[in-house]
Amino acid sequence: MKLLEVRNLKKYFPIKQGFLIDRVVGYVKAVDDVSFDLDRGKTIGLVGESGCGKTTIGKTILRLHDLTDGEIIIDGEDTTFYFMKPRKAMEYLKEKYLSRPEFSNGGKNLQPHEKHIYDVYKKANENPKEVLKILSANRKEKLLEIRRKAQIVFQDPMSSLNPRMTVGQMLSEPLLFHGIAQNIDEAIEIVKNLLTQVGLKPYHIDRYPHQFSGGQRQRIAIARAVSVNPELIVLDEPTSALDVSVQAQIVKLLKELQEKLNAGYVFISHDLALVRFISDEVAVMYLGKIVEKGGSEEVFDNPLHPYTKALLAAAPIPDPRKKRNRKELIGGQVPSPINRPSGCFFHPRCKYKMEICSKEYPPLFKVSDNHYVACHLYSTSSKEGGEKA
Ligand code: SF4
Repeated sequence: MKLLEVRNLKKYFPIKQGFLIDRVVGYVKAVDDVSFDLDRGKTIGLVGESGCGKTTIGKTILRLHDLTDGEIIIDGEDTTFYFMKPRKAMEYLKEKYLSRPEFSNGGKNLQPHEKHIYDVYKKANENPKEVLKILSANRKEKLLEIRRKAQIVFQDPMSSLNPRMTVGQMLSEPLLFHGIAQNIDEAIEIVKNLLTQVGLKPYHIDRYPHQFSGGQRQRIAIARAVSVNPELIVLDEPTSALDVSVQAQIVKLLKELQEKLNAGYVFISHDLALVRFISDEVAVMYLGKIVEKGGSEEVFDNPLHPYTKALLAAAPIPDPRKKRNRKELIGGQVPSPINRPSGCFFHPRCKYKMEICSKEYPPLFKVSDNHYVACHLYSTSSKEGGEKA
């Protein structure tokens, strides 16, 4: 069973105007129909320019943002409707599950998370209200469980750590809240252990965030995330605020903790070399959509989408003897997400554009076992297993 399944995820932010009464005059489509999977112990890297929707995906998985549409399945459980109000949850259940022919045809060919809902459906004598009642019975516990299972580490540890709390207070709070420590003495022992695990000293427990360096603060943020034994961690540019030597230490620490916890990482970064090093899979994003995804080595060694090629061509090359591939460099700015170009969103900047490019958005074409690209140049691959973005 996959640790994380993101299906057709959409997150639109309304644009409001008005003096006394707000009117919605449009939407910023920050994430638009994005799908990917993640296994335990593996890392998927999300890359792309600022504003492409990487961070919004991370926050939506954690439900720091509500989602507009789509499904987020964590550890085989559809968590999407746990966060919805009852009426919306009922609509969602009917549309995504109960009204499907599989539910009236004996539950054949269902995925594990769908099978669970089918069993409840049968138990509730096919009464949708009863289904929702059973599924929501211990909703609070389920929400807490998701909050424990999925954690996030932000880019800037100074703003993600509470400046008025000591490290001990900050790290013991989730331990007590999730029942991992039964009392404060037990919590303090666990916190001291955690500090050692992330390369700090147990006596740091009584210090405040401002008494640490940037790298040490990020270690504290990582300790807080791993304190509740999460299965999934979203790492949102965890090293970009740090010096290069400190970055290497943090990446080493993240790798060690992943091995120990067997946790899945969603690694969000601008740093392509780092993503290549840490990720098993990679998804390249442009204006809210995945334009290329696949195995990390495959995508970096054989980039297909003109945007991926341009990103790689623009990345710094540490070896002065190697020449930059200037042919693939692109000019221009990323278009506004409020007013995206017609057809392929990349066509105003693409030197390979064809007539169809300004008219139709390309689906994700499968070019090999684990390599997909959303570009009309690869449309002949669509005959075999083309997948929509
Ligand atoms: Fe360029 Fe067309 Fe491919 Fe878009 S679909 S990346 S415009 S060739």
